[in-house]
Amino acid sequence: MNYQAPLRDMRFVLHELFDVAGHCRQLGIDLDRDTLDGILEEAARFTGEVVAPLNRNSDEQGCQLAGGEVTTPDGFRDAYRQYVAHGWASMTGPQAYGGQGLPQMASASFHEMLMAASLSFRIYSGLTEGAVLALHRHGSPALQQAYLAPMVSGEWAGTMCLTEPQAGTDLALLRTRAQPQVDGSYRITGSKIFISGGEQDLTDNIIHLVLARLPDAPAGVRGISLFLVPKLLPGGERNALGCGALEHKMGIKGASTCVMNFDGALGWLVGEANQGLACMFTMMNDARFQVGLQGLGIAEAAFQGGLAYARERLQSRALTGPVAADRPADPIIVHPDVRRMLLTQKALTEGCRMLAIYTARQLDLEHAAAGDQARQGAARRAALLIPIVKAFFTDVGQEVASLGVQLYGGHGYIREWGMEQLMRDSRITQLYEGTNGIQALDLVRRKLLGDGGAELNLLVDELALQVEAAGAGGGLHAMAAAVGQRLEEWRALAGHVVEACQHDPQEMGAVSVDFLAYSAYVLLAALWLQAAMRAEAALAGGSAETGFYRAKLHAAQFYWRRVLPRATAHREALLGGADCLMALPASDFAF
Ligand SMILES: Cc1cc2nc3c(=O)[nH]c(=O)nc-3n(C[C@H](O)[C@H](O)[C@H](O)COP(=O)(O)OP(=O)(O)OC[C@H]3O[C@@H](n4cnc5c(N)ncnc54)[C@H](O)[C@@H]3O)c2cc1C
Repeated sequence: MNYQAPLRDMRFVLHELFDVAGHCRQLGIDLDRDTLDGILEEAARFTGEVVAPLNRNSDEQGCQLAGGEVTTPDGFRDAYRQYVAHGWASMTGPQAYGGQGLPQMASASFHEMLMAASLSFRIYSGLTEGAVLALHRHGSPALQQAYLAPMVSGEWAGTMCLTEPQAGTDLALLRTRAQPQVDGSYRITGSKIFISGGEQDLTDNIIHLVLARLPDAPAGVRGISLFLVPKLLPGGERNALGCGALEHKMGIKGASTCVMNFDGALGWLVGEANQGLACMFTMMNDARFQVGLQGLGIAEAAFQGGLAYARERLQSRALTGPVAADRPADPIIVHPDVRRMLLTQKALTEGCRMLAIYTARQLDLEHAAAGDQARQGAARRAALLIPIVKAFFTDVGQEVASLGVQLYGGHGYIREWGMEQLMRDSRITQLYEGTNGIQALDLVRRKLLGDGGAELNLLVDELALQVEAAGAGGGLHAMAAAVGQRLEEWRALAGHVVEACQHDPQEMGAVSVDFLAYSAYVLLAALWLQAAMRAEAALAGGSAETGFYRAKLHAAQFYWRRVLPRATAHREALLGGADCLMALPASDFAF
């Protein structure tokens, strides 16, 4: 399949819904609409012509390990060289270290394109950006001076080494040890598994950020520290670490996933001793946002594949009689069920794109808005939205990829069409960076119960105002009324969850996945209503792009009529409570 960035829809969301140029002005960033559009066009060319063509082979070929060295699939090295040379790597990096300091609202669309073109290729650079963030916030001036510039440029890569065989979700269980040395450095010993980009041939040096325990560390998560452990030491010699094995996995085969052994490797503390998890948490929002974009990118790729096929594949006649009478059968896009699948893909994908850019705006404001109050408000909003973005978008990625397979019929199951690869590649996004179950728990426990529902209520208030505006004129009364009702239902449901969890802590885990899904469907409904309002206004204003705006109105209607009802099922399931989950003894699940 040929991926082409959905530039028109990206411009719709960035400019027409969220005024990215105004946002940049507010943050004091010199980036006008034309410049951003130019960047997106160039990004579309790079991702469509350079990265996307590598994706299929990367799946077939995978990564190879020989003599401790990892070889990435054919073409990755050259594409990565171009990625660095053209400044794509440094897009979001801090300007003090050679980065371009672009806001997330501007970079998110490029990152979505990269995820869609090749998730495997993107993983190497995505992890580096996360490591830059952690180092920039928590590293000592000496470490920042020595490591940030080549990491920001992409000349060196970064990794995040958290997971161990016995410590995945529960990092309190990790065992890797750090032994202090007289010169202030540390010797790191232990084994990490599942480390993305732990070894690769794209960059000369790889900077590992490793969680480990100091000898006198308290037990549990309060005894974890973060260390910078480079593959090549400042003098150029190899550090005592290496890739012991590559994992054989379901998808993203072009991304190396490594067992990393640290055998007394030299490292330096990042941040305070025993504060490693807190250091990691400060970058969590950004990392989870990026994984959300992975789901979105995959969904877009699957939608494009499904749509192209549905327009070409000839099978059966339309229920109302032949549409393409001169051909042996009609294209399958005439069939209502095929349209159901395509419109589900479109409504979910474009809906997530709106929520992505709305969330990117909050992340930017959290870091750079003028005034503490504005920054703190945006931080609370971003914190509420991030688990939804991570979990819902990646669930959407998997659903839309599966619909892609379904649209191709049996051919979807065959490798050459690319749909089954998207489904395999996207499956990991629901698992790493905190499984989606853990995201849901985070939403309920830390975000909702954390403030008793205050931030969620603020968000509902803001969205309700927009709904009022939509209901005031034009042809969107009925949709606006339905969305308004859902928003109040969301508020009431949140109140119920807060209360239920106070009586029974099991409720937190029992309701969380359904509460997250319910929240996401209602949020998307509110955004689709805004999109419909904008489309209606453009058509009323005589826009020449009638096809584009009418399609927006149709998709909004479809979302409201055919997707939003899913929220009801999640609400009902949630109200079923914890008892029906917890009453059955573990020994009695099967006999
Ligand atoms: C391809 C790939 C790349 C990865 N890249 C990296 C990387 O670069 N760096 C890194 O450090 N790690 C990485 N990981 C590891 C990944 O983040 C973990 O696999 C993930 O966090 C889950 O941990 P686990 O596999 O040990 O599952 P477990 O923690 O054992 O979880 C098993 C199941 O139990 C559930 N569960 C666990 N605890 C709870 C709870 N308290 N409440 C409810 N449910 C719970 C989980 O949701 C899950 O369904 C990668 C993994 C893969 C497969």
